[in-house]
This record gives sequence, C-alpha cells and structure tokens, in this order.
Amino acid sequence: MKPHAFEYRRVEKVSEALQWLREDGENARILAGGQSLVILLNMRLAQPARLLDISRCAELNYLRQEKGMLCIGASTTQAQLQYWPDLPRTVPLLAEAIPFISHYQIRNRGTVVGSIAHADPSAELPLCLATLCGRVVLRSHKKSRVLDAAQFQQGMLTTAKETDELLTEVRFPVAGEGHGYAFDEFALRRGDFAIVACAVDVGPEKVRLGIGGVADKPMVVEWERRDSASFGQKLNDLAWQLDAQDDQHASAAYRRHLVRELGQSTIDTALSRCAKKED
Ligand SMILES: Cc1cc2nc3c(=O)[nH]c(=O)nc-3n(C[C@H](O)[C@H](O)[C@H](O)COP(=O)(O)OP(=O)(O)OC[C@H]3O[C@@H](n4cnc5c(N)ncnc54)[C@H](O)[C@@H]3O)c2cc1C
Repeated sequence: MKPHAFEYRRVEKVSEALQWLREDGENARILAGGQSLVILLNMRLAQPARLLDISRCAELNYLRQEKGMLCIGASTTQAQLQYWPDLPRTVPLLAEAIPFISHYQIRNRGTVVGSIAHADPSAELPLCLATLCGRVVLRSHKKSRVLDAAQFQQGMLTTAKETDELLTEVRFPVAGEGHGYAFDEFALRRGDFAIVACAVDVGPEKVRLGIGGVADKPMVVEWERRDSASFGQKLNDLAWQLDAQDDQHASAAYRRHLVRELGQSTIDTALSRCAKKED
C-alpha cells in the first residue's frame, strides 16, 4: 500500500514547527527518523494532511549534561547516542539497552525522542526512561512543560502529548553513586522487538525493576534491597499482575515465565555490578 497524499514540510527551527502545530496540530504529524511513522503511513493507519520533518533541525540535535541529567534533543539519532563515548559512564543502562534496538540501519535514522513519542510497549528506550524516572520536555506555542515518564506514558502508542505539542527533549538521570544497572531481553531473533524486556536500577536501598513487552506500557516496581531473598515470590506475583496476553509471538504463560526468569537474572547482574563498585 502507499500512503495517503500529504504535504511535506522540512522544519529548520523549533518556532516554525510550533507555529505549524498551532495552526493545524490535529492534522499534522512530526516526522523524526520515520522508522515507525512511515510504516503507519504506508498501511494508512495514520493519514495526516501534513508532515513536519524535524530530522535536520540543528537546534534539536544535541547531547548535553545539565543538573545531573543527560538531555537529548529531538533530532538526535539512536546511533549518535550509542556511539557517544561517554554513554557507558553517564547512563550505563542506555549503553546496554540500545544495541537491542533492531539493527544499525534503523538506529542510524531512528531518533531517541521519536521512540519515546511513539510509545511502543516493547521498545527499549521508553522502558529505560520509565525505570530511571526520566523526564520529557513538551513545547507548544503557548507553554512548555516537563513531565515524568510515569505521567507521560499512558498506554499502547498513547502519551500525554497534546496535538499542538512538540516533544523537544528527553532527560535521563546520570548514573548514581553506588548504583548498579542491567538490561536484558528475550526476542525471537536478534533485533526483533522484545517479547519481554527487563531494565534494573539497584541503588543503596532500593531495587527498581522495569518490564517491557507484557503490559500496554512499561511497568516499574520498586522493592527494598534488603528483601532480596523474597524477590522470587515478588517476581511471580508481578508476572501474574501484568495481565499477559497470548499472541502470535508467545503465550501468556511463556511471558510470565520470562518475567520470572529474566527478571531474576537481570536483578542479579545489577546487584553484582553494585557489589563490584562497593568492593
Ligand atoms: C524493521 C524495524 C525494526 C524495529 N525494531 C525496533 C526494536 O527492536 N526496538 C525499538 O525500540 N524500536 C524498533 N523500531 C522502531 C525504531 O526504533 C524507531 O526509530 C522509533 O520507534 C521511532 O523513532 P523515529 O525517530 O523513527 O520516529 P518517527 O517514526 O518519525 O515517529 C514516530 C512517532 O512519534 C512521533 N514523533 C516523533 N518525534 C516526535 C517529536 N519530537 N515530538 C512529537 N512527536 C514526535 C511521530 O509523529 C510519530 O507518531 C524498529 C523499526 C523498524 C522499521
């Protein structure tokens, strides 16, 4: 199938995008890397009258550290982030998760912010954002607002973004002193979307576990680190709470099994990385 006819606009400045969104946000869509949107267009699941291409907007292409956060502009690609030499030290969870996103061709075009705006429940970057309690910056012609991941992520391909808003930046907390991080996932083939993905942030007292691919958005739980002996039971309870469904990729029972097994092994890896730092 071919997309419905649309008007294409290359946007050079944020102010230009905001002006277009103000005039006709209902009928316009932002085009970033196009790696998810173009599929929706080709299948006619999205039929916007106008595409606003921000992929060459220099104002939105940056990686910078500010007030304990790594701030990533909306035209920064996943590959730019992956090959930024400071990433393993700055946000180690992202450094471990990004290679799981499909293949390098996709990461060369796909943006970090585009993935978070698209809100696929199996995607790696929204899961990392939720697990680390990251934030998103939304701008419209009249206001700018900063939302926590939990406020922004609402469900399958659904976020709190309004039609006249542009997601200009995402912010990931820089690695905390004494924290250990780990990411792992199970997919049918390397590069496929995850059937179950796990992201873990172990701090001095708490363990935060994020699960992707099961519920309609990333689900995050926080447990006391001192309760680690009972994590097996907690993972079993969580596996049932997530309300897994059967689909063509895996049964609900298999997804619950993966939550228990992958959840435990990813927590163990993060704990061992903490222990190494504490030695
Ligand atoms: C073959 C294939 C395999 C893939 N495998 C994976 C995978 O394993 N894991 C994974 O996470 N992803 C995967 N993806 C998706 C990929 O990561 C996309 O790049 C990503 O989901 C969307 O980023 P994008 O920059 O391409 O956004 P686009 O496709 O351009 O946009 C996606 C959506 O977000 C909106 N949007 C984008 N940027 C903004 C913004 N700044 N403000 C407001 N709205 C915005 C668009 O309007 C659109 O609705 C795959 C894609 C393909 C084609």
